[in-house]
Formats: sequence, C-alpha cells, structure tokens
Amino acid sequence: MDLTLYLVVMVGVMLVVVLISVPSLFTKRCPQCGHKNPLEASRCRSCERDFPPEES
Ligand SMILES: [Zn+2]
Repeated sequence: MDLTLYLVVMVGVMLVVVLISVPSLFTKRCPQCGHKNPLEASRCRSCERDFPPEES
C-alpha cells in the first residue's frame, strides 16, 4: 500500500471536514442583526443593511 497516497487522502478528508464544520469561512455575519449571509452578499438578507465593500 502506498503510504503517501494514504496520507494525501486522509489530509484531504480532514480538510473537507474542517471546511464543513467552519461555516464562518463562507458566510458574512451582519454586524447589525447577526444574520449569516453569503460572502457575495452586498447587503443583509434579514435587515437589508448594506455591507461595506471588502478590502483585502
Ligand atoms: Zn442584518
């Protein structure tokens, strides 16, 4: 059995699990009402507060 391939697969599985369990990476929380919005949202879907443009 190829140990390197096994390690790559295991790391991949762990990454997927971590990404799934950390939804904050993919959501933008409204500073006003706390509603979770998609990263691409330009305004809150709950209270319609405008989000400031991303600076990165
Ligand atoms: Zn909001």
